[in-house]
Amino acid sequence: MENQRPQTVPRVLIFPMPAQGHVNPMLKLAELLAMSGIHITFLNTDHIHNRLIKYTDIETRYSKYTGFIFRTISDGLDEDHPRKGKLVWDIVHSLHQKAKPVLKEMLVSGQLGSGDSPSVTYMISDGLFGEFTIDVGEELGIPTVHFRCSSACYFWSYFFFPRLLESGEIPITNMDKLISSVPGMESFLRARDLPSMCRVTDVTTDQTLHMVHEVTYQSHRARALILNTFEDLEGPIVRRITEFCPNIYTIGPLHTHLNVRLAQNSKWSSDQSSNNLYDEDRSCLTWLDSQPPHSVIYVSFGSITVVSKAELLEFWYGLVNSKQRFLWVMPPDMVLGEDGENSVPADLEEATRERGCMVGYAPQEQVLAHSAVGGFLTHSGWNSTLESIGAGVPMICWPYFGDQQINSRFVSQVWNLGLDMKDVCDRKVVEKMVNDLMVERRREFAESTAEMARLAKRSVNEGGPSYSNLERLIQDIISCWTN
Ligand code: UDP
Repeated sequence: MENQRPQTVPRVLIFPMPAQGHVNPMLKLAELLAMSGIHITFLNTDHIHNRLIKYTDIETRYSKYTGFIFRTISDGLDEDHPRKGKLVWDIVHSLHQKAKPVLKEMLVSGQLGSGDSPSVTYMISDGLFGEFTIDVGEELGIPTVHFRCSSACYFWSYFFFPRLLESGEIPITNMDKLISSVPGMESFLRARDLPSMCRVTDVTTDQTLHMVHEVTYQSHRARALILNTFEDLEGPIVRRITEFCPNIYTIGPLHTHLNVRLAQNSKWSSDQSSNNLYDEDRSCLTWLDSQPPHSVIYVSFGSITVVSKAELLEFWYGLVNSKQRFLWVMPPDMVLGEDGENSVPADLEEATRERGCMVGYAPQEQVLAHSAVGGFLTHSGWNSTLESIGAGVPMICWPYFGDQQINSRFVSQVWNLGLDMKDVCDRKVVEKMVNDLMVERRREFAESTAEMARLAKRSVNEGGPSYSNLERLIQDIISCWTN
């Protein structure tokens, strides 16, 4: 590195877990930092980067920020690995096993720098990478911060995994029993609301269960913890987490935060592009334009969820029988066990033509912000939850895995932003919940969701807590580089 130019700007390495729900918020954080003049190296796995290049214009879009570069690393899996459903944990296990020496070599060799910022001066790694990025940071003297893309409530619950085991609350014997081992949640958290990894029967040997606890615990070694949440939503839980991680930056909702700062700054025009890993079908926005206000329920289970054909039909019949209009996102690989026999019952087809629209992937933020949308049937992924909150849209939650089980409990019981349908997939229940959300309890949810959307915006406006925390993070990045 002797021949390199002197470092005149700080450079931050941002390294997300390779999945849509992690790449999205970390790209938004990257852009917010780049707007303040910091140089960014965004490290994707080859698999993710190839998909981003195929479906988006990210390389040209981010080239407007001086010093913003993309680099790639292998996830260590075969190219034909599905990287879908619960198999996504294979990616985390693989990176834990293989990525540490590669990352270190990339940093030492200078491959992750460029131009006026040849060296990485600060690292923001996905918290799911646990100790290996912190170890590399310590070995090379690079301050390293963890970014957890999930909710604070999920993160907090994971600290108590040993206590859940000791008390016998896991393995779970009664799904409706209240859980006493997670401080602050004793009055509403049932066994079924615990992170889905707690549902395994072999709690002593299940690798994922133990790995997630270990990575959560490792965050106390990081210089700081970044969470995509905001004070009015999860402030009390965030304060509890400071027992383990004293320096926390809550800077969310990141999508709102970015939109607000782009709108304020004429230098960086906001565009409509996304960072999606699938081919986005924007025709649904035109369809929405022709629907009455608040009349459409938007249905999406995110980028990882898979459902059986039987489940698909229960949802479909429930939606059709509710008589409400619907926009449904169905990524090509969402339905399990497709055997080539894809015939759809004629009554469903006809009703869908009349009052439905189906797409493979949607521009979700824009869909949720559309005036025709009045509800969201969601898998309660954390980004989807925040995007719904930011748009003031009430939710029906059907969690699939990970943090979604606890997020949905908070949505329904703590924040009163919708209904929780977890562990049930029945057309009658779908029909009833859709009508409850869109008709019967519409006014009640309209009030609670509008208020939370207002608080979300306030948090990212100048002077708000998320705004100030981002400024504090920027100052930390600058001071680590100058000292
Ligand atoms: N998303 C999208 N269009 C779709 C489905 C998903 O733009 O049709 C985006 C969505 O806006 C969110 C992310 O993909 O930012 C999904 O993240 P989330 O945490 O909700 O769920 P995951 O996909 O990780 O399960």
